[in-house]
Amino acid sequence: RTRVYKFGNKTADGNSTMKNLLGGKGANLAEMSAIGIPVPPGFTITTEACTEYNELGEDILIGMIKEEVEKALQNIEEIMGANFGDEENPLLISVRSGARVSMPGMMDTVLNLGLNDTVVKGLIAKTGNERFAWDSYRRFIQMYGGVVLGMKPESKDDIDPFEEIIEHLKEKREIQLDTQFTVQDLRDLVYDFKDVVKKRTGNDFPTDPWQQLWGAIIAVFNSWNGNRAVYYRNMHGYPADWGTAVNVQAMVYGNMGDNSGTGVCFTRDAATGENIFNGEYLINAQGEDVVAGVRTPQQITKVGSMRWAELAKIEEADRAENYPSLEELMPSIYEELFRYQDMLEKHYRDMQDMEFTIQDGKLWILQTRNGKRTGAAMVKIAMDLLKDGSITDKEALLRIEPNKLDELLHPVFDPNALKRATIIAQGLPASPGAATGQIVFFADEAKKFRNTILTRIETSPEDLEGMNLAKGILTSRGGMTSHAAVVARGMGKCCISGAGALKINYKKRILTVGDKEYHEGDWISLNGSTGNIIEGKVATRIPELSGEFAEVMELADKYATMDVRTNADTPKDAKAARNFGAKGIGLARTEHMFFEVDRIKAMREMILADTVKGRKHALEELLPMQREDFEGIFEAMQGLPVTVRLLDPPLHEFVPHQLATQKELAEDMHISLSAVKNKVADLQEFNPMLGHRGCRLGNTYPEITEMQTRAIMEAALNLKAKGIESKPEIMVPLVGTVNEFLEQEKVIRKTANTVFEEYDDTVDYLVGTMMEVPRATIMAEEIAKHADFFSFGTNDLTQLVFGYSRDDASKFLPIYLEKGILKVDPFEVLDREGVGKLIKMGTCHGRRTKPELKVGICGEHGGEPISVEFCFEQGMNYVSCSPFRVPIARVAAAQAAL
Ligand code: PEP
Ligand code: MG
Repeated sequence: RTRVYKFGNKTADGNSTMKNLLGGKGANLAEMSAIGIPVPPGFTITTEACTEYNELGEDILIGMIKEEVEKALQNIEEIMGANFGDEENPLLISVRSGARVSMPGMMDTVLNLGLNDTVVKGLIAKTGNERFAWDSYRRFIQMYGGVVLGMKPESKDDIDPFEEIIEHLKEKREIQLDTQFTVQDLRDLVYDFKDVVKKRTGNDFPTDPWQQLWGAIIAVFNSWNGNRAVYYRNMHGYPADWGTAVNVQAMVYGNMGDNSGTGVCFTRDAATGENIFNGEYLINAQGEDVVAGVRTPQQITKVGSMRWAELAKIEEADRAENYPSLEELMPSIYEELFRYQDMLEKHYRDMQDMEFTIQDGKLWILQTRNGKRTGAAMVKIAMDLLKDGSITDKEALLRIEPNKLDELLHPVFDPNALKRATIIAQGLPASPGAATGQIVFFADEAKKFRNTILTRIETSPEDLEGMNLAKGILTSRGGMTSHAAVVARGMGKCCISGAGALKINYKKRILTVGDKEYHEGDWISLNGSTGNIIEGKVATRIPELSGEFAEVMELADKYATMDVRTNADTPKDAKAARNFGAKGIGLARTEHMFFEVDRIKAMREMILADTVKGRKHALEELLPMQREDFEGIFEAMQGLPVTVRLLDPPLHEFVPHQLATQKELAEDMHISLSAVKNKVADLQEFNPMLGHRGCRLGNTYPEITEMQTRAIMEAALNLKAKGIESKPEIMVPLVGTVNEFLEQEKVIRKTANTVFEEYDDTVDYLVGTMMEVPRATIMAEEIAKHADFFSFGTNDLTQLVFGYSRDDASKFLPIYLEKGILKVDPFEVLDREGVGKLIKMGTCHGRRTKPELKVGICGEHGGEPISVEFCFEQGMNYVSCSPFRVPIARVAAAQAAL
């Protein structure tokens, strides 16, 4: 088996289809090299080798790949005309991680590898640049020390041992910037760094380049299981056994003087999706300098540079002189870069995110990948590529990550409120969205308030968790490609970067703009689309489905064969869902209607009644309210099917548990307090989720079913009289035995007939059951003889199949996920293997009895893309989900059908 794949000099062993084996980065480097893009030569060690390393350990792994690695390195030497470890013409290399999906900043990298006290002399001889050589050497020790030798600061109060030395030297020399170090200073740093390595680790810094290389390779493999990577993996649901590849590549330098530079560019705008080539670069810098946000980078295109200057309030003359674009500064390099970006986008037929380096006037492309983008950009780019004929409509649809559509459904600032807003300052619109929250300055404090704005000078990969928890991210430094900007766009989180007017004092926890101060806990708002930072809170409103979003939905409807309904209990939700394209209601939970303040009293009277007569009296009070509810919902749905579920929760949820409210109730009902107390105690259950709920209620108190059926039928007939059609589907919850269903069905049909006689008119309706008790799925063949439809209630079904309480599972599920006992939360993503088997069986057996049996799902899983795909595979007629997930489910349903 091959474990090492070479690339360079317009050839490659691998290609872009081998992402699982070579990682995204490795596969793309191979592909680029093969199509004639100038990438520095190198090789990729496979992800399989990473998994083997995890199983077999270091020695065995090295033994397995040693020969291949040596050959591949020799190939680099030949192409670059330089030798690894050579004292006259040395080859230096980089060692980077690369999983099958990009995980920006989550894993480790070592640059400038191959240097030691003699090789550095060769580098000086070769480049004639003593300063550059020593600077590379000290950067190497610092990076290698951190990544391979474990000399990283452990917490935010801990100091990086290397930075500490740098700070000391700066103090001693009375200078502020790294660039002010002399060659002698840099040389001193190298020796001081080596001393601290010896002191901390007990070993000398490795001088043998091969020993350095193996150390780095193993460290990169290890970083796959580092904290940051594990958190990121869990957040995205990437399995641990994917592993990372290792990319070893010849170093090229952007910091060899003013004829060198480095940058990042995008073939389209990653925030808005506009088809505009854009990016940032720095002259005389290494790649890390651009993304780390330490120096504010310059724009690649002239147009971009002018727009940037406008936002940063920089005069044109100042801009042209001090912040020129690459287009102006190095026109021929720019032209070449422009050509490659065009080539690469056409080749990959998607927006590319590229890194490049200019070494002494020669352009090298370091990497390309499908660029991370916001939900809005995802939609626009897919539709634009479809329109210009680059991709087919099926491909366009598959480019939509359903969950990312969520961003487009988030509230936006109300334009009227924005007019009145006080703008504090302006930054770069790094990731769109509307965020309002209280200022926090540290990522690990992002949960300090309910809604927070993480406010930092710049962010780093350690801040990931906090960035995820915050409502928005604000940085005073860094450009559109800074860590904060890239990560925020990937998360779909609102972000403003590089707001230079902000002065942040971490120690005092104060943000200063001009003469104004903002403290931790103060409210601010970010408009990620304009870069405006606003004082206080700004009102928001629900966005509309328009433009390209609507086009995506049209495309989804063209291919989807399964309907998407919604779970809605109010006319307002029903209308919202219809605007998002719902084809009906799959679950109206009627209990929500009883919880409303003015109704709960009647409900309580019903529960506290000792006799059927008393209960009926209370139910009569509830009837008109229920009827009104149903009229509203049926009317909102305009003749689309509406599944109404009969009362489900245990009765103790409706009675008061506090003394004061119990007293109130006793007075209202003219009964004694002790009677109320007794009843409440009576209703108490050890395990309410397995208790007196669902059809067990309807079967013990058939009057409830009667009242609800009457309300439904009267509502439908009242509307019919007004010329409005309705299609009620009455659903019996928590059925486990055939008789449970039959008893309820009898009550429903009898009541319906009575109402029909009274009105001298009828409506068509169905009577079906929820499938949420495992026994029902086992008895599906029998139940289907009587039920008109099945709707899988996968919340309860998951609870009962796993035996995990829905209400308490959060105590142990996070630990199960962390330990890998479970891969995903089964309440979030449907468990295909277990719960799924029952769904499959229930559906098949039900349809064996009744081939036309209508089957759907109304548990939370109905809006989760992977689960939607499963429902499609089972031949369900529809999925039903909350209104805001309807567009997501529509795309997921269409993708499943492709
Ligand atoms: C279910 O159990 O999946 C369901 C939809 O019902 P509820 O969540 O109301 O129990
Ligand atoms: Mg349920």
